[in-house]
Amino acid sequence: MKIAFFDTKPYDKDSFDRYGKQYGVDIKYFETKLNEDTAELAQGYDGVCVFVNDTINAAVIDKLVAMGVNVLALRCAGFNNVDMKHAYGKLHVLRVPAYSPYAVAEHTMALLLTSIRRIHKAYIRSRDFNFSLVGLTGFDLYGKTVGVIGTGRIGRVFVDICKGFGMKVLAYDKYPCAEIDNGDTVRYAELDELLEKSDIISLHCPLSDETYHMIDENALKKCKNGVVILNTSRGALVDAEALLAGIKSRRVGAACLDVYEEESDLFFEDNSGHIMQDDTLARLISMPNVIVTSHQAFLTEEALENIAETTIKNIVEFFETRHCSNELCYCNGSAQDCKERKCF
Ligand code: NAD
Repeated sequence: MKIAFFDTKPYDKDSFDRYGKQYGVDIKYFETKLNEDTAELAQGYDGVCVFVNDTINAAVIDKLVAMGVNVLALRCAGFNNVDMKHAYGKLHVLRVPAYSPYAVAEHTMALLLTSIRRIHKAYIRSRDFNFSLVGLTGFDLYGKTVGVIGTGRIGRVFVDICKGFGMKVLAYDKYPCAEIDNGDTVRYAELDELLEKSDIISLHCPLSDETYHMIDENALKKCKNGVVILNTSRGALVDAEALLAGIKSRRVGAACLDVYEEESDLFFEDNSGHIMQDDTLARLISMPNVIVTSHQAFLTEEALENIAETTIKNIVEFFETRHCSNELCYCNGSAQDCKERKCF
């Protein structure tokens, strides 16, 4: 099996080399992202392996299929960058549904603590022997209400972490999970109630037409003054312009973003020598109460290991059986893990 691996970073290679060798998968690493201009690189390969900021739109799918490539292995959980509707019946889309929900949930809490205890400011100050505490006053998490939107794998781990801090959790999910609701410290609520009552709001649902800009001007108007917004899910869940306006008007007390709507041309790359063209991102980053990390929440040793193992096993399972238990499918009109696998 020969796989064309797009958007390669040095930290990908270690574990993929190991699992590739173990399972007989021959990997050709390309630094470039997969898009309409680079799809030709997949010529002669049995499949392609991509990450969160590769573009698998209708044109790319058609090019891959025309070259005889009909397997796309996502080395991530989210698939909002794949035109699943167009892929249906043409391209088999495999993914890694879970690799370490702890990595993402723990990074979310790391961002929250850094922000509200002003660690990012204190770190810079003490390196300059500035030991003043003025302006570093934070607040206790104990007793605060956190709104968790999306209580899947990552959301649930984040709920557990918040419980450990003695926080109250208001949860919102399209498909609630009854067992986590104890009617007291963890309770499901309507989205409006969550927005109105939460001191902190954390997003853990997928990006879809339904969730696009779910935190917009209107939603922020419903929030408590000083609300802290955490987004480690997908950038376009938050309307960045509205968030910036909320920060400027002081309605939003702080924001921690591991993802950004227009991240695909910026994140994962060193842009330090370039003129930043994205004024919204530049303004957000300039704020003392905004912390941005570069889609880093997944990046732990454990997660990288699990991503490589599952991706390689997905590819091997598919080529050996023409089926894969982690195949995504559009068979019922929306993208989902396909258990039937009888679609094409
Ligand atoms: P998951 O599928 O286990 O959980 C998602 C939850 O969102 C589910 O409970 C689902 O019912 C809920 N949901 C779906 N539509 C909804 C809606 N319209 N409103 C409210 N809830 C809705 O996924 P997960 O593994 O917990 O991952 C969550 C998200 O985290 C992923 O979609 C991905 O975008 C993001 N993610 C980010 C990173 C990172 O490095 N920053 C890494 C992995 C995943």
